Amino acid sequence: MVEALEPGEGVEKVLPIMAPYTRASLELKAERTVVKARGLEVGGVRIAAIAGPCSVESEEQTLRTAHAVKAAGAKILRGGAYKPRTSPYEFRGLGKQGLEILARARDETGLAIITEVMTPADIETVYEYTDIFQIGARNSQNYYLLEEVGRAGKPVMLKRGLSMMMEEWLLAAEYVLSQGNPNVIFCERGIRTFENQTRNTLDIAAVPVMQKLSHLPVFVDPSHAAGKRPFVRACALAGVAAGADGLMIEVHPSPDHALSDGNQSLNFDEFNELVPRIAKVADAVGRTLPVAGTLV
Ligand code: PEP
Ligand code: MN
Repeated sequence: MVEALEPGEGVEKVLPIMAPYTRASLELKAERTVVKARGLEVGGVRIAAIAGPCSVESEEQTLRTAHAVKAAGAKILRGGAYKPRTSPYEFRGLGKQGLEILARARDETGLAIITEVMTPADIETVYEYTDIFQIGARNSQNYYLLEEVGRAGKPVMLKRGLSMMMEEWLLAAEYVLSQGNPNVIFCERGIRTFENQTRNTLDIAAVPVMQKLSHLPVFVDPSHAAGKRPFVRACALAGVAAGADGLMIEVHPSPDHALSDGNQSLNFDEFNELVPRIAKVADAVGRTLPVAGTLV
């Protein structure tokens, strides 16, 4: 095509139109990226379930949750130690103590850990404990933070910002990738729209669209999308049906007493009951959710 136009009269130069997100783009890397975290592969045929509390609140709460989600089939434990809260007067996490609790949960269960880092100043500390850095929706366009986690060299899950267009999301990933870190996972967690029956609007189409534009894995977080427990299950299943490479789900031993996001957290029974359904939907779309007890 370019060659055909090049010698044309009045044509000085022909530039193929390439996506501006060169490293994230499927145009330049045709094979899908499989992100490895603690022996786990994210982004292949197997889908992965990340589960755990919104916030690490105590050792007991986190360890109990870790054992419960592992038994149900999750492979990665989530839990915030540094929490971005809308109000500064709400529980903002246990900080380093929270990271230590997560590490204990990993030691006991063998689950990989994902936790949020909110500022470049905390990267070194969080790096010591986490297997995957979570960049939250509110920080998804904090470009200095993105570059710094890119340099840190562990996998990064990049949540979609509250009003982020997909191209902006891809370009945000580019900040991490351009620092030599190829291990980025996108996470659709709902966007802000006029609708308020749900906390956010789960943009289910973002899954196939992002997978068409990029080789990077795409997860769905049905908890922050729905914001209300009764709708988490349907959003989770819809995410898998749409082709998500994994799910991130908030689970708490006693959601009504959670210090953050209790409204949208599943209890152990609810999560336990959801996992086999996820596996069925995964199967229907040519993916698998490894059953509890298998390694990868
Ligand atoms: C979270 O995962 O608890 C969280 C704060 O998510 P988000 O950044 O998507 O709001
Ligand atoms: Mn939360």
